[in-house]
Amino acid sequence: ADDVALDPWGSSTVSDYRKLFDEFGIEEFDDVLDEVPHPHYLMRRGVIFGQRDYRSVIRALQNDEPAAVLSGFMPTGDPHIGHKLVFDEIIWHQQQGAEAHALIADLEANAARGLSWEEIDEHARSYLLSLLALGFDPEDGDLYRQSENREVQDLAFDLGAEANFSEFQAIYGFDGETDVSHMQSVVTQMADILYPQLDEPKPTVIPVGPDQDPHVRLARDLAERMRFFKVSKAYASFELEADERELVAEFYERLDPADFDDEQLRCVHVAETLEETPLAELGVGASTLESVLTKLNEGGMEPLRPRTRFSDRRATDAAFDALIEAIEGEKRVYENHVDAFEIDRAEAEELAREIEVENGGYGFQPPSSIYHRFMTGLTGGKMSSSIPASHISLLDDPEDGYDKVKSATTGGRETAEEQREKGGKADECPVYELYAYLLAGDDDEFAKRVYDECVGGERLCGDCKEQAAQLMKEFLEEHQQKRAEVEELLEEADIELES
Ligand code: SF4
Repeated sequence: ADDVALDPWGSSTVSDYRKLFDEFGIEEFDDVLDEVPHPHYLMRRGVIFGQRDYRSVIRALQNDEPAAVLSGFMPTGDPHIGHKLVFDEIIWHQQQGAEAHALIADLEANAARGLSWEEIDEHARSYLLSLLALGFDPEDGDLYRQSENREVQDLAFDLGAEANFSEFQAIYGFDGETDVSHMQSVVTQMADILYPQLDEPKPTVIPVGPDQDPHVRLARDLAERMRFFKVSKAYASFELEADERELVAEFYERLDPADFDDEQLRCVHVAETLEETPLAELGVGASTLESVLTKLNEGGMEPLRPRTRFSDRRATDAAFDALIEAIEGEKRVYENHVDAFEIDRAEAEELAREIEVENGGYGFQPPSSIYHRFMTGLTGGKMSSSIPASHISLLDDPEDGYDKVKSATTGGRETAEEQREKGGKADECPVYELYAYLLAGDDDEFAKRVYDECVGGERLCGDCKEQAAQLMKEFLEEHQQKRAEVEELLEEADIELES
């Protein structure tokens, strides 16, 4: 990414982005860039700067395995060039073979922003037209409105059973005045994020701005909790002996799942749920099992009986000894599939999920995410929909687009002389951002040339802006032309736009 010399830390928001890495565990995109097949230019130029668990998606794309991308748009205004970043990210993943989902967050727009349904309809249509115009393939992708998607609503209901108010309070600052539909729109959003995995669990990436990270964290968390929730439901439907039923009931009553780590939860809830499932095949190691049993014992409870029969042939293994000791009370002889202990963790996860799904669970994988930088407003500061001069709408008259670029602030020096001498500050220049994020398209050479000429003092702001303004005008003309062309596609697409 350094080739193009756009320094992801060069903007005024450096410290904010750093904090994301340090405090929230978002990882640098550069760590995985080399593994991405044909990275998008936004990745190459460091515009996409962070990720969470993106490797699982890369791996799936590399191996032609199922993967998905999903992003939502809150139709509160016209789509602008900042939204184009997300459109591009969805489309790129679709082209790389991922299942693509784009949704209109109409419930959120209504609940959180108070827009009327008429306004929402109009904006929703406009977002989708731009998405299609930029290359989204609706035949191969999925477009939906939150309010129209029954499966999302049902999933939201299940997820709602796993989330509570104090959690929302901590994450979103909700208080006693927060209306219920706002909370409902949050669980709906969680359902959106997990929706691509309803048919089958798969690596899913959610491209977002860093401000959306709380949603991603909550969704990852809920994905894990749903495992507990659903499998325990499946458990309840099993035919159990009366005393077993009692044990299970007691287990759920007295144990706080928060005390368990994920692997232990999976071990107890998945493995113990399934009568014929050898624990070893779930990749549950002896030491994990042992610690679960220990925890159960410490809680003064009789451990649930492992269904697996371990062989005593290999009981010399220290971990095994501990295990057998822990279950000695049961006076059982356990057969062992020792080799199965060596199965790869990822495979084991996969297997566990399959079994979970077979038994009525969701088997969600915690969703992955990638984070893109925000575009700086043309007037400096943040690009905002509410300040027309700060952004360029995809619906702006091309001439207006031209004018806005011409009057944008720059990273230029006071005088042409000084600029020739010291060079411009491309890293602080909204106009340079336009080149890097949009106008240079896939042409890295071009973006690099603009940058080098600017910082080298060969490029002066007047000409530079003229060139950018011209390119912006052409982009808008072309985009709007395409929007007109895809009107028909939108009519055909399977989405109900009139509410
Ligand atoms: Fe920005 Fe171009 Fe001026 Fe450099 S020359 S500061 S990139 S407008």
